[in-house]
Amino acid sequence: MSVIQPAIALHGGAGTILKSSMTPEREAAYRAALCACLKAGLDILQEGGSALDAVTAAVMALEDDPLFNAGRGAVFTTDATHEMDAAIMDGARRACGAISGICGPRHPVLAARAVMERTEHVFLSGEGARRFCAETGLEIMPPEWFGTEARRAALDAEMRRRGLGLPDDGDPARKHGTVGAVACDRAGHLAAATSTGGMTAKMPGRIGDSPVIGAGTWADDATAAVSATGHGEYFIRWAVGHEIDARMRWGGQSLDRAAGDVVAELGRIGGSGGLVAIDRKGNICMPFNSPGMYRAWTDPSGQIRTAIYAPEKEGDPAPGR
Ligand code: ASP
Repeated sequence: MSVIQPAIALHGGAGTILKSSMTPEREAAYRAALCACLKAGLDILQEGGSALDAVTAAVMALEDDPLFNAGRGAVFTTDATHEMDAAIMDGARRACGAISGICGPRHPVLAARAVMERTEHVFLSGEGARRFCAETGLEIMPPEWFGTEARRAALDAEMRRRGLGLPDDGDPARKHGTVGAVACDRAGHLAAATSTGGMTAKMPGRIGDSPVIGAGTWADDATAAVSATGHGEYFIRWAVGHEIDARMRWGGQSLDRAAGDVVAELGRIGGSGGLVAIDRKGNICMPFNSPGMYRAWTDPSGQIRTAIYAPEKEGDPAPGR
């Protein structure tokens, strides 16, 4: 088995993220958080750990950071509740697990991983999922732990707009965000994980693309690992993760071409968002069709880079490097 340089990439959501509306302090906070979360996964890869463990660690770190819409910091439904979705996929064996509509586990990605590893099923939701999480011994937090003032303000603003009958600004990107990671380990195995609170003021019971295997989350060593973020209804209808796989597998396309084209096509039909993807050689691509996407990745020399806005081709080096 050849040993390749491990690589990892993550996103913290795509959307209307403009430099003009960001303070230097806030931007620095995002870049530091992206860097720390990537490092959580990269450390595992550099110690010879698996892609699966690396994406789990990176997403757990993102879920703990209230800057991002997953775990702590999850957005609210119209009922002012949290309903979180998560999925994980192991590209070596097409094993996967997903969970939807839950509020309880501190780390929804661990709930998804437990579904994959401890049940004969792929996808759990509702009361059964909640019971499974509690019985599995996952760390459970009270609902208040997940909410933040900023998320509450976003819900209130959206409900006020709807109450007044004001037109939507037509920008679904304003309401979404998600976290996810993809990795390639030294053995060339791929994995992907995605976790989200969904979209602000979503209907209770609504499930987005993040936990849907083949849409927001996908991994197969033969092609690519993909974690998406964006307007979930479009990503489900376009089966984004599997569509990229199919273009590579049957059309012989490169990762860059397949992922870039799919995200551009989505943009043309109104599906705002983006994704991070990786192939078995450790090539990374991170296309998006919205003004920005929080992202971090390892460059070919193994250094951590971060970027937020569209033109940042090279990304910023990690602070202190
Ligand atoms: N894709 C997520 C959803 O639709 C939201 C996001 O990524 O911003 O639930």
